[in-house]
Amino acid sequence: MAGLAAAWQLAEDLGGSGSRARIVVLEAGSRVGGKVRSTEFCGRTVDVAADAFLARRPEATGLCAELGLDDALVSPGASGAALWSRGRLRMMPDGVNLGVPTRWWPLFRSGILSPGGSARAGVDLFRPHRATPGAPVDRAVGPVVAARLGHQVVERLVDPLVGGIHAGGVDELSAEATFPPLLAADRLSGSLMRRLGQPPSPAQSPPKPAAAPRTRPTPVFWSLEGTAARLPAELAAALIARGVVIHTGVAVESMARTAGDGSGHGMWRLALGGDAAVLAGITFASGPVDATAPVDTTASGDGMGILHVDGVVLAVPAGQAAGLLTGHAPVAATLLADIRHASVAVVTLSMPTGAIRSDLVGTGFLVPRTSTIGGRAALITGCTYLTQKWPGLARPDDELIRLSIGRHGDVRQDELNDDELTAAAFGELAGILDIVGQPSHSMVTRWDGAFPQYAVGHLSRTTRIEQSVAELPGVAMAGAAYRGVGIPAVIGSGRAAARAVLRSLDGTVAGRPG
Ligand SMILES: Cc1cc2nc3c(=O)[nH]c(=O)nc-3n(C[C@H](O)[C@H](O)[C@H](O)COP(=O)(O)OP(=O)(O)OC[C@H]3O[C@@H](n4cnc5c(N)ncnc54)[C@H](O)[C@@H]3O)c2cc1C
Repeated sequence: MAGLAAAWQLAEDLGGSGSRARIVVLEAGSRVGGKVRSTEFCGRTVDVAADAFLARRPEATGLCAELGLDDALVSPGASGAALWSRGRLRMMPDGVNLGVPTRWWPLFRSGILSPGGSARAGVDLFRPHRATPGAPVDRAVGPVVAARLGHQVVERLVDPLVGGIHAGGVDELSAEATFPPLLAADRLSGSLMRRLGQPPSPAQSPPKPAAAPRTRPTPVFWSLEGTAARLPAELAAALIARGVVIHTGVAVESMARTAGDGSGHGMWRLALGGDAAVLAGITFASGPVDATAPVDTTASGDGMGILHVDGVVLAVPAGQAAGLLTGHAPVAATLLADIRHASVAVVTLSMPTGAIRSDLVGTGFLVPRTSTIGGRAALITGCTYLTQKWPGLARPDDELIRLSIGRHGDVRQDELNDDELTAAAFGELAGILDIVGQPSHSMVTRWDGAFPQYAVGHLSRTTRIEQSVAELPGVAMAGAAYRGVGIPAVIGSGRAAARAVLRSLDGTVAGRPG
């Protein structure tokens, strides 16, 4: 998503009349979209990673509007989620902000915490908290919340939510990077719950997209009719229509700076790997940005090609970016290589109608990491009632269920093959819901190293990475490794990186001969 968004911004900024700039997207995989991906399952198109984007951030809805997809925005067909706690599913209380309760009574009534745990959280409302001047810039989320509201709030609410979003643990995740309002509230005197319950200022709330009727509140999440993966697909189609060339199955294997091309300034020489036939076929499609000229690419029989470019947006995961930057920006390469990642897996099940005898309430449930199911440490981290969340997927004969597995530090799924993983995950589901029979179909999708872990100090390390890369002419970074893992954040990072590349090149691209 970050790379496509960068190309979109470049096309926007360079697409003016007279520009002969060429924009190329190189994607190592067989299709665009990266982790925003869907697949066919039981006759339906089902998202196998991201299935929605946050509505309160403007970048994804803004891009949808630019692509004319306003009318295709859909919100979940159910609301609310439950939590597996104290031996049963309990609905998340009203008024939680990323797991932090902002009202005590709904928290108490939810039964998620023990009476003692609720009482401990309530102390926040009565015991005056004094701001601590000189508090560190960043801290882990867990200890900040634990000090104010107790450990149960951390383990049973904040870790499942914040940890769930990042597939990490809140005892390591940076509050500055993953939950900035928490740090801001903690720095002020008074109740943390009350502070986090205050509505955002009008300046912080994005405008509603056209599709949101004025009379109804904006939902928390949006997706697109059919699948969230329509976003990269439609974006790619719009890019191609604007003359951007997209190559799938082509990986950038290394980059090197050339001395110059005769007109006085250096370029980046990208060594491309991939299928030799694909590389040999790399030529420019016709389009308004550049009509005819072949790209400066040579493909040899061994599957290597060369592409010379003025600027590069590196919209790849941190490990790949580290490899490409070694030798050019050593500080950035070292810091990028140090970012740890969590692997996750998604098990999608089709359950025959009637097999699930429990009432499915809301969109699904989360499972705290300290939970046991049937007396064993839980493997699943959450469950989505897919056909309830996205009514467009509903069919009379089944119920689609999605189970999430894996988080940083828990690699149990790596030791199980797909059948074993499905059996283990389904066994846990059956330990929570009243189920008769077995799934009629199942599908496992594994996402290795999918989630960069924003450890304490992540944002200052990101700034150092950006500073190190800014010394390279025409290079910028984008993607989930930096300032947010969600779809809106990575779209924003792609667009910002495109602008940074253009600033660095200072207008030399548009004026260059094709
Ligand atoms: C299971 C799961 C569920 C998620 N759910 C949500 C959700 O509901 N909502 C949400 O907002 N976010 C969600 N996310 C997070 C979000 O999907 C990702 O953080 C985001 O899509 C990452 O986008 P990206 O462009 O940074 O990276 P990626 O999607 O990882 O894209 C990077 C691309 O670079 C390519 N590449 C790598 N190396 C090279 C190379 N050398 N040359 C060329 N190409 C290369 C890769 O093939 C890949 O396509 C989820 C993620 C997962 C894994």
